[in-house]
Amino acid sequence: MEQTFDLAVIGGGPGGYVAAIRAAQLGLRAACIERDPYLGGTCLNVGCIPSKALLDSSERYEQILRRSAEHGIRVGEVSLDLPAMMARKEQVVSALRKGVESLFRKNGVTWIRGAGRLTAPDRVEVTGANGETSQVVAPRILLATGSAPIPFPEAPFDEERILSSTGALSLPRVPEHLVVIGGGVIGMELGSVWLRLGARVTILEKAASILPTMDGEIVRAAATHFMEQGFHLRTGVDVTSVAKRKGGVRVTLADGGTVDGDYCLVAIGRRAYTEGPGIEALGIAVDARGALRVDGRLHTGVGEIYALGDAIGGELLAHKAMEEGVMAAENAAGRVGHVNYAAIASVVYTWPEIASVGLTEERARRELGEVVVGRFPFSASGRARAMGEVYGFVKVVADAETGRLLGLHALGPRASDLIAEAGLALEFEGEAADLALTPHAHPSFSEAIKEAALASLGRAIHL
Ligand code: FAD
Ligand code: NAD
Repeated sequence: MEQTFDLAVIGGGPGGYVAAIRAAQLGLRAACIERDPYLGGTCLNVGCIPSKALLDSSERYEQILRRSAEHGIRVGEVSLDLPAMMARKEQVVSALRKGVESLFRKNGVTWIRGAGRLTAPDRVEVTGANGETSQVVAPRILLATGSAPIPFPEAPFDEERILSSTGALSLPRVPEHLVVIGGGVIGMELGSVWLRLGARVTILEKAASILPTMDGEIVRAAATHFMEQGFHLRTGVDVTSVAKRKGGVRVTLADGGTVDGDYCLVAIGRRAYTEGPGIEALGIAVDARGALRVDGRLHTGVGEIYALGDAIGGELLAHKAMEEGVMAAENAAGRVGHVNYAAIASVVYTWPEIASVGLTEERARRELGEVVVGRFPFSASGRARAMGEVYGFVKVVADAETGRLLGLHALGPRASDLIAEAGLALEFEGEAADLALTPHAHPSFSEAIKEAALASLGRAIHL
């Protein structure tokens, strides 16, 4: 069988499905080829959504266990029903999968089930689960094949003891001791889930600090709080091997020390997934990290083949992939798409949450010399006091000469939602004064942004 479209997208994750929907909205006949039996990719099925479902459930559990009394609420015996928590997570994922399917129907996107392989710059061979093949022909092709977790050398994931994030999202029981290699986003988020549910959690991080790419001051404050929560954080640690042993795993360090646990989560990053779609045969180039090389228009340099999302590297974030999906679709429809990478926020969904957009203070000083910094602690926020969530602060980084906002970093309650305001300010090339002079509802967490911006101007009211 052969089907013809204006645009064929390989991969139905947030980058691919968004591109297909936007292309259809712009009048193109769009197909999305996905090898898994469902849409949504890593993010919806084994990433953003199930991890946030477990983070929210485990946070509630911990709040009930440890934080009820301070609010004057006495609770009786509290117990964990892990299978029910996991079932809820699956329901959340399943509802959202159906949502994407219905968006495809509503917008007229054709979902083609099977693994796609480029056989020519305008042709994809699709192999279905039953082994049957069909042909998709399109003048424009978009590679949105995502990424896969990097295993520790010579310790492949078995998802029973040596876990990737996928295994760590579906453990059958709470570990006694979860050893996590990598103190990045996955290590801290999934470590938080299991710590809250009762596991001992040790993080082994190679760099000098956890979350090494985030603002140093924010990370130092976060690390102190994580240790108070019970995390064992070991930084500057060189892991040499991971091996299974009876009933668990043994992690060996370069100094000869060992760390034993019943499970080991390997969270040392992800790598672009480009096996299968036939890129080598067509001469599509990859960079040293295995990501597809593209230009500023996401063009691979071969025919009319474009690529986006995790498959091209950069920040491996769902919203970055979605923005690129829209850009690629706009370009395919003859418009001019654009992504403002400077306004893409990163969030770590621990509690307190960590959110960041724009330049860190360190990078701003390195690149621009003099900058001004304003901070406001949540301990001085009425809303945070009312909620009993006083840990953390907001930090505004602005250009010393022009006042232009360069970055905003937050450690604290609902930082994931607060950060959007700073993204908007960066999108408008706004100044710290724009944040400072905008009225913010009282009492709200967002006032901390206004006050931190005021502090950068030397005129905070509540400090
Ligand atoms: P993917 O989502 O990986 O989708 C690629 C799709 O392509 C897959 O469905 C795959 O099956 C399909 N595919 C691959 N090859 C073929 C082929 N040959 N034929 C057909 N189909 C193919 N990001 C955030 O922004 N926020 C978060 O909170 C967050 N949490 C995360 C938590 C975890 C545990 C993980 C692992 C990741 C998380 N991420 C988060 C990252 C996010 O999931 C990715 O950045 C995002 O999914 C990338 O989207 P994508 O469309 O590029 O690729
Ligand atoms: P990461 O890049 O965030 O962190 C990996 C960490 O492992 C780094 O701190 C690194 O220094 C450390 N590391 C690397 N090799 C090591 C070694 N041999 N021993 C000890 N430490 C080592 O990667 P991740 O946590 O695996 O997450 C993968 C990707 O998924 C990230 O790029 C992230 O963007 C995305 N993600 C995003 C979110 C979110 O947005 N909230 C959540 C989860 C995952």
